[in-house]
Amino acid sequence: MKTLGAGKLILPEHTPFAKPLTVQQCMHYALTHPAVASVLIGCKNRAEVLNAVRYLDMSDEELDYAEVLGSLRNDFRGNCVYCSHCQPCPVNIDIATVNKYLDIGRLDKDNVSPSLRSHYQGLSATGRDCIACGSCEARCPFGVEIIKNMAEAELLFSEFIR
Ligand code: SF4
Ligand code: SF4
Repeated sequence: MKTLGAGKLILPEHTPFAKPLTVQQCMHYALTHPAVASVLIGCKNRAEVLNAVRYLDMSDEELDYAEVLGSLRNDFRGNCVYCSHCQPCPVNIDIATVNKYLDIGRLDKDNVSPSLRSHYQGLSATGRDCIACGSCEARCPFGVEIIKNMAEAELLFSEFIR
């Protein structure tokens, strides 16, 4: 899971929400998810390290991310930002990676490159393994239709169907 969504979640110009989350809200979001025991924040200087550890002293109100998460801009809904907040998957599909390959493949469906197909097929679990349990969709803050995407990825990248 990318705690800060590669910085997108904390930057006003890139956030998919009405306002950016704080670094500490991002950390709290990650740490309150199943199977997440720690977060690793990329810091480029001492001030950013000190800012991140302020997490330990903040109140529940300061860490609450619900209001911001509820303000998703409509133009982002349904688009995967590869944050992996939908994990864990019971059959260990790397959902963000499958979605990323799918987004690339969708750019030119009739000419999927052999290397892209090969990368997809090299994953330890693919769309073919999806059991449509729906737990990922319940966790995705961006309203991505993951089950549909897994089926589409399998259709697009499977050598047997095409
Ligand atoms: S499906 Fe949703 S939660 Fe999963 S990586 Fe994409 S945007 Fe993030
Ligand atoms: S719906 Fe499919 S991709 Fe999502 S968690 Fe379940 S098995 Fe994994």
